Amino acid sequence: MRPEIGRGGLTVGHLLWRMGHLFSGKKYWTADDSRNMVCRTYGDLLAMSAQYAAVLTQAAPQPGACIATLAWNHDRHLGVILATSAVGDVVVPLNPRSSVEHLHHVLAKVPISVLVFDADLADLAHSLRAHAGGEMTLLRSGAAAPDCDCPGLDELATSQPTSFDWPMLDENRPMLVSYTSGTTGMPKGVVYSHRSQMLHAMMALGVDTLGVCEADVVLPAAAFFHANSQGLPYAALLAGASMVLPGRRAGDGPFLAELVESYKVTCFGAVPTVVHRVAEVLRSAGTPTPLAGTRMISGGSAVDRALVDRVADLGGQMIQVWGMTETSPIAAVSRPRGWLDPESSRHSQSAQGVPVAGVEFELRDLETQEPVEWNGRSTGELNCRGPWIINDYLWGDWQGESHDWLGTGDVASIDESGYMRIVDRLKDLVKSGGEWIATRRLEEAILQVDGVVECAVVGIPHPEWGERPVAYVVARECADVDSLGARIRSALVGSVPKFWLPDDVRVLDRLPRTPNEKIDKMALRRAMDVPPADQAAGSAAGRPEGAARP
Ligand code: ADP
Repeated sequence: MRPEIGRGGLTVGHLLWRMGHLFSGKKYWTADDSRNMVCRTYGDLLAMSAQYAAVLTQAAPQPGACIATLAWNHDRHLGVILATSAVGDVVVPLNPRSSVEHLHHVLAKVPISVLVFDADLADLAHSLRAHAGGEMTLLRSGAAAPDCDCPGLDELATSQPTSFDWPMLDENRPMLVSYTSGTTGMPKGVVYSHRSQMLHAMMALGVDTLGVCEADVVLPAAAFFHANSQGLPYAALLAGASMVLPGRRAGDGPFLAELVESYKVTCFGAVPTVVHRVAEVLRSAGTPTPLAGTRMISGGSAVDRALVDRVADLGGQMIQVWGMTETSPIAAVSRPRGWLDPESSRHSQSAQGVPVAGVEFELRDLETQEPVEWNGRSTGELNCRGPWIINDYLWGDWQGESHDWLGTGDVASIDESGYMRIVDRLKDLVKSGGEWIATRRLEEAILQVDGVVECAVVGIPHPEWGERPVAYVVARECADVDSLGARIRSALVGSVPKFWLPDDVRVLDRLPRTPNEKIDKMALRRAMDVPPADQAAGSAAGRPEGAARP
């Protein structure tokens, strides 16, 4: 007989149970319709979720319905996410900054019954419904929108009871579809289960991971539609931590810096570009150690050493995380380990991290597929597995069979202590004369050159070598742009192999970015008339990124 132990607990319903029984009086702050910050309690959020659940189940009565959202980081959005998943439906947070082409791609894959949208996104919501043949119900969240006669979710909710008979769900049930940001192709839908999200949230509570606890004030600045804002809102609700939800202005450096100071934020999560913006504002304000007691959790793209140092100078602690939408998203966390000296600790914080409890890594040689040694130098494709690593791609996006290991499409080294460093994405590697050039490593080296603010290296086709690297840089305002190319090339001599030296250095006013603030190499290639990575000569991109492997 197989013992059956431990029913319950690994569903979103458990978050609601905790909010109701343990933290109902706990305060949080959220941007409201008029962008002011208002204070509410988790008891209010629970009641709001119950009322939303009543409205949404009437609007989409079929079990397992897909409810999409087009909304910013505020509590009404969180209420819809909680309500939808806790009744057993599937929430699909859409990225309002995605291209229309990407959004149409999503709509073609997911049978959306209801779309809940913020008033300032009404036009987009209407155009999506028109594209979908008018089938989906539109519900406006928050204030009325001009020229929009859609029913308001909040108006409908006021007449509903403030409690709901939440069902007991199977923890393996799908609860949310998260879309990749599409930096390397069309966005792919990743289906999260209740179990995967709850285990991920429990991981985030660990003191050697993010250490989210009841005393924290958590500011999730990464968008809810981008891998669940690093999973921070669920971790905060599980721990009973307070939250500060910035609404639409989640990328606005001065506004976020003000929130960090006013609400004494202790745990801030964002992509490195946004952390950098906040740190710049705080530094120029001149307050000594404004980040004392604050953990800056950052991932999505590389956190460079300069940012680690900047945050430390402001009194804060940088915690780099690595992950993908496919890994729910956090799979590795970079925290100093007990036996490391202070300099090695800072160095390790600029690594992508060690795998968190539950997650395992392996490296495979790009050509032979043989295992690669963990010696800090040898590189290979990073594979990972664990309880919240890719449940499934959305119907139809799945390109391989189900296997234990997820091939991440990232190329990395791992040192003897388990610190993983990404050197590139497979699709960005440049193959020159049969040898690989890791563009991220090259970018890191170029960023060390005085006067360089941002950098992206892409491979361009070359008749003799297959591909050659070209560096696109943004220069500091006062930098001597004419001599920059020569300075970069001479600075690189000795720090990278000679054949890595870029054939050309082109200075731009700014680099194109994805809606999630990552450097958009696809757009750069398009603008520069370079073929996409998977069509370029000698490209490594044979296999779809994020595909599982045996
Ligand atoms: P997309 O694949 O569309 O960019 P994701 O948001 O899922 O969407 O991006 C995951 C990728 O982001 C990873 O495969 C990796 O290349 C990159 N990434 C995530 N965290 C880090 C980090 N800390 N350092 C460097 N790269 C990172």
